[in-house]
Formats: sequence, structure tokens, C-alpha cells
Amino acid sequence: MAAKTMVLKLFSFIWLHVMLASSSLFCDAAKLAWDENGYILYCPCMGRFGNQADHFLGSLAFAKMLNRTLAVPPWIVYRHHAPPYTNMHVPYREFFQLEELARYHRVVSLEDFMDQLAPTHWPPGNRIAYCFEAAAQRSADRKTCPMKEGNPFGPFWDQFAVEFDKSVLFGGISFHTYYQPHWMKKFPPAEHPVLALPGAPAQFPVLEEHVGLQQYVVWADKMVQQGEGHIQALLTRPYVGVHLRIGSDWQNACKLLQNGEAGPHFMSSPQCVGYNRQNALPLTMTMCLPDLAEIQRAIKLWVKKTSARSVYIATDSQTYRDEIQKLFKGKSAQVKVVSLQPDTAQVDLYILGQSDHFIGNCASSFSAFVKRDRDVHGRPSSFFGMDYPGRNKDEL
Ligand code: GDP
Ligand code: MN
Repeated sequence: MAAKTMVLKLFSFIWLHVMLASSSLFCDAAKLAWDENGYILYCPCMGRFGNQADHFLGSLAFAKMLNRTLAVPPWIVYRHHAPPYTNMHVPYREFFQLEELARYHRVVSLEDFMDQLAPTHWPPGNRIAYCFEAAAQRSADRKTCPMKEGNPFGPFWDQFAVEFDKSVLFGGISFHTYYQPHWMKKFPPAEHPVLALPGAPAQFPVLEEHVGLQQYVVWADKMVQQGEGHIQALLTRPYVGVHLRIGSDWQNACKLLQNGEAGPHFMSSPQCVGYNRQNALPLTMTMCLPDLAEIQRAIKLWVKKTSARSVYIATDSQTYRDEIQKLFKGKSAQVKVVSLQPDTAQVDLYILGQSDHFIGNCASSFSAFVKRDRDVHGRPSSFFGMDYPGRNKDEL
């Protein structure tokens, strides 16, 4: 009896593994069949996470517009200030679920593309770079796309040991939907299966019509667990999430505004002043670079309005924790002011995204990521210098 059970168990054990192995084979084969409609490859070579995320949404839309599979690149994480100083390349699925993107359009990770498809379909010797004529002007012969010139371009393609063999230049077109027929005519997939571009085929900041694509950018389970762990350990709901973008690089950027060298559309500001240039609200210095008085005012307002029990501070530099905590001294209901140290950008983004109210920086694409994510889920947000965004000039 026992022996029979053993045999049965062993048999089902083997059977299970045969099934698992074959199903994963089928899955891989199905997932990584070559797409005759072609591919888009690009380096997220401009800016840090927020900029890369804006560009990602536009690139996703561009790939869908051309009906090509998007090879989703890894995120580039810079380590300028700490050894080993080299860039880190973090696969998309470390932070987000690749599968969720498929609800919108066909994607493959660039890692899988290089591992499984490139050896046969995009082999060395056949790797063509595509770029604007203007970009190629900078090269010695004025005809070569600057795919690997400098950092982060070189290291990005080097991680996959990619060299480019040839350049194809284009001009008189842009990534805008208006040019869809032009792209299709110029680069039919049969002749140009892999469009590899030096940068994202997208605008910065993200176009208004692509903001909603944020719904397909869904945190990976591991990130959710990590983020929720911090929220439970540190915070009491309701909590207000605050993004302080006040470091020295930001101070320099906002100086352009002060000097009148920038209009209302400055970096990510369309998210709060409005995307339409004709009726955009003014972008004030307080909105770009809130001072301590504004930071305190806004936090006090929203803690009161939401009856918050805690405040989460994410910052690019200092936290102003004591200055903010001071606002709530002597209150019968204590308000706890919290920040994480050491912080990581994605954990901050997650915690800000889950807050009961979010106060962000209008011009920051890091804040913009949080704002879009919250809009998808119907969670309220405001900005320093703008307590009630989402109303245009005519409505005010
Ligand atoms: P933007 O410059 O504000 O538009 O956003 P970017 O994401 O392009 O660049 C800012 C970078 O500074 C981020 O990617 C982070 O690396 C860092 N940073 C800014 N604010 C925060 C923050 O609140 N927390 C953490 N951990 N990093 C931040
Ligand atoms: Mn930036």
C-alpha cells in the first residue's frame, strides 16, 4: 500500500515536471515568436527616472502607432556620486509588470529580444541605426548616428555587446501621429524589421494624449510588498505624501524661471498649468521651488483637510523633518513626520502613490509619475503653489 502510494507520488511528481517544462517551453515559444511587423529599440538616454518614464509612455504609443513590437529597455540608474560610478541597468520587470503592458500593445523586454531573437533575426553585421539627419551632423562623416557616443549611450549598448554597422538617416518627420503614414511608407517592416534609435521616439514632457497610458505601468509584486511593508511599519493612515524637489540641480533649473527665460511650459509643468499653451496658467517661482514657508503652509493645509495622522517626506536632498514636525507640536492628535533613510527612488514613488493626499512639485517629472499613477486610481493630488490643480484659467 505504502509502496503503491510512493510510486503514484513519484509518477505524479515526474508528470508535473514534464507538464511544467513543456508549458514553459510553449509559453516562451509563443511569447518570442518573431514579429513580422517589426520592432522598435531605443535607449532611454535622456534624464533620470522621471524623464525616462515620460519617454517610455510616448515610445509605447509610437510602437503601437507603427504596429511594431516595443523592445522595452532597462531603466538607466546613474551612480555619479557613489562607487562604482558606472550606470546600473535595471530590467523593466524589476520595478513593473511587463505583462500589464500587453493589455495595450505587444512588448518584449530588450533583454529577451537580445537573448532570444537578435542572434537569428538581428545578428551582428546587420545592425542598422536610425536617426534624424540633424543627430548625424555631429558625427565625423556627418552620416553616422551617434548611437554609442559618450555616457549613457555607449554603456547602454555595451551591456548587450551591440555595435552598429550602418546608419539610416531621416528628416522632415517627427514621432507625432500625423506622420504615421510617412513612417510606414519610409520604413516598411519587411525591409526595416528593427528600428534601433539613439533616443526615445517620444516627447518630453509626455504628451497629454499619452498620460493615460500610465494605467499599464503597474508595480511588480516585489515592489508592492516592499512599499506596503514600509507603509505598515512607519505610517498611520490617513497620511499625506510629500515630494520635495529642492536640491541644488533643481535650484539652478528654477533660476531660468526667475530670470524670465522660461514660460509657463517648463519641464513637466503642463501637468499643473495645463497642456494648452494658449490658456496655460502662470508658473510661479513658488511652484517650481517652494520655500520652507510654502512647504509648511501646504502640508499644514492638507494634514488638516484630510485629518492626517502622519506625513511621508520624499526628497532629493533635505527632508525638513524637524521644521515640519514643529507644525504639529502640542496638537492633541499627534502627527508623525516620516522619511526613509536610505531612500530609493522607486520605494518613494510607491509610498507617495499610495498616500491619502499627495503634494508634488509641478515642474518635476518625478512628481508627475506619482500624479499620473494617482489619477489612474482616482486619488487626489495637489502641488506646491497650487492647491487645486485641474482647473484652467477660464474656470477660475
Ligand atoms: P525631475 O528632474 O524632477 O523631473 O525628475 P527625474 O526623475 O528626471 O530626476 C530626478 C531624480 O532625482 C530622480 O530620478 C531621483 O533619482 C532623484 N530624486 C528626486 N526626488 C527624489 C525623492 O523624493 N526621492 C528619491 N529617492 N529620489 C529623488
Ligand atoms: Mn531631471
